[in-house]
Amino acid sequence: MDLSELYRDVIVDHNRRPRNAGRLECPTHQAEGNNPLCGDRLRLFVQLQDDRIRDLRFENAGCAISTASASLMSEAVKGLSRAEVRGLFESVHRMLTAPGAAADPSLGKLAALAGVREYPVRVKCASLCWHTLNAALANSADPVTTE
Ligand code: ZN
Repeated sequence: MDLSELYRDVIVDHNRRPRNAGRLECPTHQAEGNNPLCGDRLRLFVQLQDDRIRDLRFENAGCAISTASASLMSEAVKGLSRAEVRGLFESVHRMLTAPGAAADPSLGKLAALAGVREYPVRVKCASLCWHTLNAALANSADPVTTE
């Protein structure tokens, strides 16, 4: 099995069985995101404690890439501080936008989304959840849009 096949399996798996789907009863932070280009909609619920993400859930209606990306992100950011989330977002953003960038080993399973950069429209699907998480952590009341 080559790497791209493995990555495709990760995306298919997270789209079929999204991790951390649902909502939190008493989130400390939340935000909504929209990607009008594709029609992806996302609502994120975050439980922040001592500046770390203790729990995170999401509700979404969107394409396979946006669903898999939110699921992968939800696993990757649990337990991270806000500064660590920012650092991870920068690595993900580089992976999604820099052609030929070497895979950052710290990305782990998130590297499954690297192939998305060949499809600029899909980059917005994959990055929607990250922009929405930034907005949630900043306690921004304005819905996020990728436009
Ligand atoms: Zn999409």
